[in-house]
This record gives sequence, C-alpha cells and structure tokens, in this order.
Amino acid sequence: MPAYSELKRTHTCGQLRAVDDSTKVRLNGWVKGERHLGGLLFLDIRDRYGFTQVVINPQEFDPEMLAEAERVRAECVVAVVGTVQKRPDGTVNPKMETGEIEVNAEAFYVLAESKTPPFEIEDETTAKDVLRLEYRYLDLRRKPLQEALKLRHEATMAIRNFMSDQGFLDIETPLLMRSTPEGARDYVVPSRVYPGKFYALPQSPQLLKQILMISGFDKYFQIARCLRDEDLRSDRQPEHTQLDMEMSFVTPEDVWAVIEGLMVSMFRDVLGVKVEAPFERYDYEEVMMRWGIDKPDLRFGMEICDLTDVVRGCDFKVFADNVASGGVVKGIVLKGGGSYSRKQIDGLTEVAKKHGGRGLAYVLRAESGDKSPILKFIGESVKDKLVETAGVEPGDALFIISDKPLKTEEILGQLRLHLGRAHDLINKDEYKFLWVTRFPLFDFNEEQGRFEAMHNIVSHPIEEDMQLIDEGFDSKLTGDDLSHPWRRVRAAQYDLVINGLEVASGGQRINQRELQEKVLSILGIDKDRADRMFGFLLRALEYGAPPHAGIAIGLDRVVSLMLGRDSIRDVIAFPKTTNATSLMDNAPSSIDPEQLEELGLALKKKD
Ligand code: ASP
Repeated sequence: MPAYSELKRTHTCGQLRAVDDSTKVRLNGWVKGERHLGGLLFLDIRDRYGFTQVVINPQEFDPEMLAEAERVRAECVVAVVGTVQKRPDGTVNPKMETGEIEVNAEAFYVLAESKTPPFEIEDETTAKDVLRLEYRYLDLRRKPLQEALKLRHEATMAIRNFMSDQGFLDIETPLLMRSTPEGARDYVVPSRVYPGKFYALPQSPQLLKQILMISGFDKYFQIARCLRDEDLRSDRQPEHTQLDMEMSFVTPEDVWAVIEGLMVSMFRDVLGVKVEAPFERYDYEEVMMRWGIDKPDLRFGMEICDLTDVVRGCDFKVFADNVASGGVVKGIVLKGGGSYSRKQIDGLTEVAKKHGGRGLAYVLRAESGDKSPILKFIGESVKDKLVETAGVEPGDALFIISDKPLKTEEILGQLRLHLGRAHDLINKDEYKFLWVTRFPLFDFNEEQGRFEAMHNIVSHPIEEDMQLIDEGFDSKLTGDDLSHPWRRVRAAQYDLVINGLEVASGGQRINQRELQEKVLSILGIDKDRADRMFGFLLRALEYGAPPHAGIAIGLDRVVSLMLGRDSIRDVIAFPKTTNATSLMDNAPSSIDPEQLEELGLALKKKD
C-alpha cells in the first residue's frame, strides 16, 4: 500500500457534483454498503459531509484490490482513487447530494478494518438506548446526531459572536472550587496535597460571576459547564452547559434586552426563524392564575376562568363548603369537547388525581343538551351562569376543579397541558417566548417548617417588597400563615420560557452584605455557617459591589428545542444515563488502592 500521504482525500464524500466530471480524485471514508449489479461492484463511501457512490469494474480492476473490495465490511475505513463520471441516464439519484455522479475506481485500499457494528449506521435506528450509549462513537456516525452537534456548534458560535459584539468578555471561572451548595448536592474532588480537604465542582459560576462584577467586569459571559449531583429525573444530566452572563449597573430589563437580541439573532442565524421581540412579560402571580403553571406553553389558549363567585353559597356542598373555607372553584373550556365520552372523562379525572386533585366536575354542552353529574345539585340557573361566565359554547366542555387557591390552578394547568397535547392544539412549528418574573423570594417548606430560597440565595427582593424583609423579623405569624411577610416578598427573579419549557433563569442580585446576611438568616443559615459557606462572597460585598443582574440559559435545552428533539441527550456528544453513568467508558469506576492511599482516603462499606 502506498504511503497515506499519497492516498489522502482530495474531496469529502459530500462534495462532488456533475461539474467535477472527469476529475481525478481520492476519497477517504467509511464503507456504508456494497452491492453487485450488472457485473459491476458498487460501494457507498460515507463521511460527515455525505456519501458518494464508487463503482468498480471487475474486468479492469487489479485482482488483489478487487478481492479486498469484495470482502470489505461496512464501517471499514477505505481510500479510493478514481475518476468522477456522470451517472448514466436513469441512474441519477436526485435525493442524494452527490447523486449526479459516481467515482470510477482505479485503486482501492483498506485504511482501517472494522468489526461488524452492533447496530447498523442508519438515520433511523431501532437499536436500544443502552447499546447506542455503549457504542456512542458509532451512534455519533448517524446523521441525526451529526446534524445535532453541528447545530449546537452553530448555536454556540452565534452566542459567542453576539455576546462579544455587545461588549461582553468571555471569562473562565475555575472547575475546582470551594463547595458552595446552591440547592443541589455538590460533586466533590479530594485534594491530594491537603488530605481530608475537598474541592467542589461548580453547580454554576454564580458567586464567581458576582465577584467579577465587584472587580469591575461589567459585562461577563461564559459557556460554562455546571455539575449537580441530583437524583436524576428523566432528561436531566449530571453535567449541563449554560450560557452564563452577568451585567453591572443594570436593571432586569437590560438583561432581558440582551437575551432577546441574542435569541433573535441565534434563531435567525441558525434556523432562519424570525423571532419577535420584546417577548411578552408576566408576573408569576399572573401566569399561575391564567395558566396554572410557572412556565406556560402559550402556543394554545384555554385559559383558566374563575367560577368561585358563581358557586358561592350554591346547593352543591362540595363547591359551597370549599369556597366558604377560603377555597376556589375554577375551570377550563375544551372547544369541541361537548361530545366527550365517559371513558375520556375518566381518563381526564385520572390526570387530575395524579396531580393531587380530589375529582373533576364538568358540564358537557352536547347536541342532545347539557350534561353534567352536578346538575341535580347546582340547578339550571347556576349551571347557566357557569356556562356563561366560562364562555362555553354549544359543543364545548367545561372542566371544573374545586380546591385550595393555587392548587386548583395547578391542577387545571396540568389538565390544560394534557388536553393541549391530546387534542393536538399545539402548533409544533411555532416558538412562543415569554418572561416570567417576580417569583416569590421564599418558599415555605411545610414539612420542615422553614423557609427556603425559591430560586437562589442571592436573589434581590423587588423594591416594593423590601420592607417585608424587616417586617418578617418582627412578625408574630408563623411561616405556615399565608400572610407572613416573608411569604409575600417577591424577587427580582425571572425565567425565560419557550414553548412551555424553562430555558433560562436569572435575577437581580443582592449587592449589600447586610441584606445578604438577612436573607441567609431567614433561610436558617446562621452567621457562623454563612461565614463558612459564603464568607468570601460576604467579604467581597463589603468592597463596593455594583448593582448587578444576570441570567443563565440552558444550552442543551435550547439546542434540543431548536432541533425539535425530545431529549437533550441527542445534543450532547457523550451524555450520561439517568443513573448518571457513562456506558461507553463505564464511569464512575473504582480507583486503585494506591490512588486512595495517596489521597488519604479509606472506603467504608456501603450497601
Ligand atoms: N446561577 C443560576 C443557575 O445556574 C442562573 C442565574 O441566576 O444566573 O440556575
């Protein structure tokens, strides 16, 4: 075999066209398939640019090379030397980019053998996920994954260009850092030099980016890896990538404007899709009341309507008692749902129960007249009022939930999503962007009887609610009282939602040590612990911290959304399973006893 320098490709496998007719070329690639036809041998050679048909005429071919070509298996790497020729009439393949030509081979060499792959490298595969993850290098040869990683590259390039053009500096923050829990568990790395001490891998660059603001880097960004040791839910990864950014001397509106500009340019450059900005903006309270979820999918309607006043004091005790004890009664209307069957209603009731509902009431406006199991309790006049208030037209269905405030809306929000999907009410080609802001600063954990940060320990309260922080310290109320001042503090915290997915989260940050300490103490973190965990941030806050705000966008999520893929796994080159293992290299794995010794670690037996 000649030296590889003489066999090196002159063209990729996706490059040749009719204009290249008669050109002498060398192609390198993977054998995709082989077939004998009309006394000729045809081979398809593939690389990430496409594939090219190679034709070998046994009559004119070197017998040794012919034997090689005939025994070659799929996925071997080969070099072909030959001449481009237009395909004979009737054999042109318009579906293939190189379908006008073929390469008439003069020489054929195998550069690397391949075992028979455990699954075929086809666009569509029925291979099991585990197998595909174990042989990820083969899975990544498949076109859908090659396309996904290419689009991801284009998205990150669009981000870098846009952010840099806007004056942001790309600054790296360390991977080995102090453990500063942000809600999830840290991945920790033992130190060899300081036995018994540990670094943590960052859950996000949050505190460091704030410190960069204190240093005066008023516009920072980074495409950062974030690691969180959480119990994995489906479609979560222990490590994910985010576009992390922070700005000084700004209000949240300035951050939104940058992200809106970024989304417009990214969707335009990568997908050719026009995105309208500014995006709609809603307070948390409003989205919860209208759509029953903090990340509403606005590609379809079906807003929640309030029926509490209609049923107040009515003869249906379930409604009347609930309302009398502070509960609410609300509903959603399904257009054309008037003909819902018993079975469909049962199915929907199950969905309501799955989300904590006690049951589901309904009014069906069928052709044969209004049907409702509660009609005999509420009577015609209340039913008519319900129908009128909710705007139920003939042929529609009204589904009603009666429960505690917020819980009622949340159940209806889930029913709405279920119905939207079940009845194909969602336009899959549309992108609906919106901001949700002014989330509660704190969540009260009823079980543990303590306040928790709803999003982030560094979120700044909105100006109007600042005084509630101090009022809470003086309050005689307990945390489970809905009117406790701390339950009413809203945060200058915001999420970007696209098509019902939370793709970014950010906020204005606390820039005064005193306020940060108050928030930490509300969260039950006393001065000592605060100092141990966040001392470096608290100290830095004493040296001129500018007002600042920022956000982080989940890159894996946005890219999978752009591609219309259901799973973020498809847009990550080497993803882990939902059990946080990597099937290809078998991580996590044991380490050598010598390594443990060096680190001063001894393993305890654990079940
Ligand atoms: N650090 C936050 C997170 O990772 C994002 C932010 O507020 O910028 O979720």
